[in-house]
Amino acid sequence: MQIYNSLTRRKEEFVPLVPGRVGMYVCGPTVYGDGHLGHARPAITFDVLYRYLTHLGYKVRYVRNITDVGHLENDADSGEDKVAKKARLEQLEPMEVVQHYLNSYHEAMARLGVLPPSIEPHASGHIIEQIDYVQKILDAGYAYVSEGSVYFDVPKYNADHNYGKLSGRNIDELFANTRALDGQQEKRHPADFALWKKASPEHLMRWPSPWSDGFPGWHLECSTMGEKYLGEQFDIHGGGLDLMFPHHECEIAQSVAHNGHETVRYWMHNNMITIDGKKMGKSYGNFITLQQFFAGDHPLLDQAYSPMTIRFFILMAQYRSTLDFSNDALKGAEKAMKRMLEGWKRLQELKPSDASTIDMGGYAGKMREAMDDDLNTPIVLAHLFDVCRLINQVNDGNATATSADIATMKELFQTYLFDILGIIPEGEAGANMRPYEEAVDLLLQIRSEAKARKDWATSDLIRNRLSEIGFSVKDTKDGFEWSLK
Ligand code: ZN
Repeated sequence: MQIYNSLTRRKEEFVPLVPGRVGMYVCGPTVYGDGHLGHARPAITFDVLYRYLTHLGYKVRYVRNITDVGHLENDADSGEDKVAKKARLEQLEPMEVVQHYLNSYHEAMARLGVLPPSIEPHASGHIIEQIDYVQKILDAGYAYVSEGSVYFDVPKYNADHNYGKLSGRNIDELFANTRALDGQQEKRHPADFALWKKASPEHLMRWPSPWSDGFPGWHLECSTMGEKYLGEQFDIHGGGLDLMFPHHECEIAQSVAHNGHETVRYWMHNNMITIDGKKMGKSYGNFITLQQFFAGDHPLLDQAYSPMTIRFFILMAQYRSTLDFSNDALKGAEKAMKRMLEGWKRLQELKPSDASTIDMGGYAGKMREAMDDDLNTPIVLAHLFDVCRLINQVNDGNATATSADIATMKELFQTYLFDILGIIPEGEAGANMRPYEEAVDLLLQIRSEAKARKDWATSDLIRNRLSEIGFSVKDTKDGFEWSLK
């Protein structure tokens, strides 16, 4: 299997450190808001990698962290903690904010068919390990204490090692362009980053340390927890391309300073999702949460899109290419997935013949080849569409297939579409809610007609039964509205 290694900037044969086992770490969400499309892509990309490695027979330990402390606004070393800010605005305990958005993230991931990782460590649960880690970097001489905070000494590190090798940034240019921000006067150099921050008096999340009551820097948790659960060297580290700099660059510097060598062997980055060609973000007014996608509840959306439609849409592009969201693109994905699942349904009814006029040879090899080529999921889908075409030909009587052909086709769908790409057929796991929503609409239309002819018995029966089942029905000027209670 070949994967593109961001560190060497080329495709490399994947050879795990320990035969038969894979250690993989993926940066998870900072839980201070509902999950959005930008969360779905890394989760689905590395879910497919996890599924494929497992399919190949590897025993995979998949660690995906939860950032619940230390991630400051603008990914910088100053400003408010993202979780703490939300807690202050909503008058909640920070851990209430974390739990609320973590539950919502898990729910969205389950609906998207994303398998839970093997370990999901929280930054706040690993403070002791992080303090230890900082102390070792201090002992190695690559950090300094300033006003109760600890900063990583980037120029010192850069003199001994090469800072910027992952992102390929020119270090002088980088230093020249770093803006002086509030609080940076504590730093010797603007490119230095916080390993430990002293908490201001009003800061809610704080722990004692040898340097101050404070909290760990954002980059530190991934170095610490990756090493704790996967060892001083492990196979794969993944995340979105937006994390390459500064987050992953800082992770490399921390682990080299800590261990004297690099930790990660293959760095993998999924590309970003744009919306109608624009970057996604709150300031662009195009920030759509996953829940809004599933409900069709955003001015930019023409309709609701099922979680499986979103998953299919993301898999229609190779993970390293950019992916532009638009209503047209998602409707295209919805149609394509429907065609694929109709092929699967037809396949169940296909009548075998004694002789075959179709050529099933080679599809399994081609799909495996596509997955082995840096997870080329759009090519896997293209081969599955070819199989659908064969199914339709046999179904229409224009070709014949033996029972062995039919078994092969079923195996290909099961292995590639369901097990590896993780598509859940409609009707399972509530992947497609539309037929059920239409059925409720239909009942309420019948009720409106009953009311119009003053058939109160029927009208009340429908309303009361729906209420007992758990729907709340509201009469409006133009008809009715309903929701789940
Ligand atoms: Zn991380």
